[in-house]
Amino acid sequence: KHESRGTVMIYDMERSAAADQHREIIMASAIREALDERRLTLCAQPIAATGNAASISHYEVLVRMVDDYGGLILPAAFIPAAERYGLMQQIDRWVADEVLVQRAAEIARAGLHFSLNISADALGDADFQAHLIRVLETTPIPLSRVGFEITETAMVSQMENASHFVATLRKMGCSVALDDFGNGLSSFNYLKAFSIDFIKIDGSFVRQVESNFVDTIIVESIHQVARRLGARTIAEYVEDAPTEARLRSIGVDLVQGYHIGRPQPLEALLSEEGETRELAAAASDS
Ligand code: C2E
Ligand code: MG
Ligand code: MG
Ligand code: MG
Repeated sequence: KHESRGTVMIYDMERSAAADQHREIIMASAIREALDERRLTLCAQPIAATGNAASISHYEVLVRMVDDYGGLILPAAFIPAAERYGLMQQIDRWVADEVLVQRAAEIARAGLHFSLNISADALGDADFQAHLIRVLETTPIPLSRVGFEITETAMVSQMENASHFVATLRKMGCSVALDDFGNGLSSFNYLKAFSIDFIKIDGSFVRQVESNFVDTIIVESIHQVARRLGARTIAEYVEDAPTEARLRSIGVDLVQGYHIGRPQPLEALLSEEGETRELAAAASDS
């Protein structure tokens, strides 16, 4: 009986691995379809100066997939499949074109700073690099208002193919942030190969920074490293006021998270900004 139970367990595990793989194949074809039919959409999440939630200075652009019924599918559900089936590069290219070309006039008018995520696959790819640089050369958005977020893991894996590219982005005037810092290998070796403007402290250290002594020490240390490198810090996953207060006492420069604001459709944000500007213009006319 014992043995057969074991057998059943192994059988179940294999079956579920096969089912997972099957689900990923289906997801990958759904992503290809969404790319073809332009059924991807963008949200933006605010980033503010620590201790001053009203002073929203940046937005991070986050991609979502639209399902057959108009619902939004979050990255956690489709990025693993996109990575495995080599689709991240196309997603990142779509996002870059959408922000820097298609909606660039509106975005330029809004006067806000936007940052885009770049995946490891895109980061190391010569065609993606050339395309992004071309698009940056022609976008009407001032490049001082365009930033890129690259995870530590992506930086490490693409060190050889990407250090020149990252330096070029910065030379053009764009900012570069190390995303999810502390969550990767943290070999720190790549810090010698890349100069960066921001370090985004991974949410896993931020969430309990107020109650957990070790997290406090880690966040303080990351902030020190950033300072010494001439970079500013951004804490992600800031969900309440006490967390923000602790980050402020540590000196963390910027905060992002549900306490500041949730991701909202880019469209809504841009039309809101448009209305605010029209109101301001009307007020100054009268
Ligand atoms: P990320 O770059 O670290 O982005 C932050 C993620 O944390 C976002 O999830 C955001 O909604 C979520 N978040 C922010 N603040 C809070 C908070 O206070 N509480 C909680 N519970 N969550 C918070 P999202 O939009 O689901 O994106 C997940 C990841 O997918 C991103 O992590 C990024 O790595 C990736 N991603 C999203 N859009 C793109 C894209 O266009 N290109 C690439 N390459 N990756 C993307
Ligand atoms: Mg990011
Ligand atoms: Mg992040
Ligand atoms: Mg993260």
